[in-house]
Amino acid sequence: MLPEIYDYLAFTEEIAGLLAEKLANARTAADIGAIMGELTAYAEGELEKRLGPEETAHIACKGGCSACCTVNVAVLVPEAIAIAEFVRKTFSGRELTEIRAKVEWLADRVRWVDDDERIRLRINCAFLDERGWCAIHPVRPLLCRALTSTDPELCRRALASCAYDEEEPILQNLAHKLLMEGAFREIGKGVERLGMDYRSMELTRSVKTFLDRPPLVDDFLGRKRISFA
Ligand code: SF4
Repeated sequence: MLPEIYDYLAFTEEIAGLLAEKLANARTAADIGAIMGELTAYAEGELEKRLGPEETAHIACKGGCSACCTVNVAVLVPEAIAIAEFVRKTFSGRELTEIRAKVEWLADRVRWVDDDERIRLRINCAFLDERGWCAIHPVRPLLCRALTSTDPELCRRALASCAYDEEEPILQNLAHKLLMEGAFREIGKGVERLGMDYRSMELTRSVKTFLDRPPLVDDFLGRKRISFA
C-alpha cells in the first residue's frame, strides 16, 4: 500500500499544479466553475482507473443516498463559487427561491454549531431535496466525495453513536478518501500559492456569501480576503 500512497500524494499535487495554472487566468465565476468541474472530473476519472471493479462494487455511496448529509462540510472558496454558479444557472423560479431560503435558514442555524453538535441536531444539508437527492450532485464538495462507506446503515449507526459520545466504525475505502481529501488540501495550497484566499469555510455560509454577493468573485480573483456573510 505504501507506494500507492506516494502515488496518490503525487497525484493530488499534480491536481494543485493544474489548478494554479488555470486559476491564474480565470476572469469570471463561470471560469472558476469550469476549472473546478474539470479538476473534479479528472480526480474522479483517476479514481475510477485506480480502483478495481471489485473495490468499486463495495462502495455504497451514490446519488440518492443521504445517510451522512447532516454533517458540517468545509469547502474552499473556488468550490463555493462553483456551487453558487451552478445553483444560479441550474435552478430558476420557485426551485431557486426554495433553495435560497433553505441556504439562508441553515447558514444562520449552524453558524455557531460545532461538528459534534451538528451531528446531534441531525439537520439536513440545505442542498438535500425532498427525495433525499443532492441537488448539487455534479458540483458537490470534494469532502462530500471523500466519504465512502460499504453500507448506509453503518453511517446511520455511526452518526447516532456520535450523539451519545460513542464511536461506531465505518468500513471505508481509504484510497478514495485519501485521494479526495488530498485534492482538497493540495488545491487549498495551490490557491494560497497564487496569493488568493485559501481558507475553508462551512458549505452553507460560503455558498450563501457568493449567492448574495456575486461581485465578491472579483475580490477573490483580485487576491482580496473574502468577507463571508
Ligand atoms: S452537498 Fe450534497 S452530498 Fe454534500 S452534504 Fe449536502 S446534500 Fe449531501
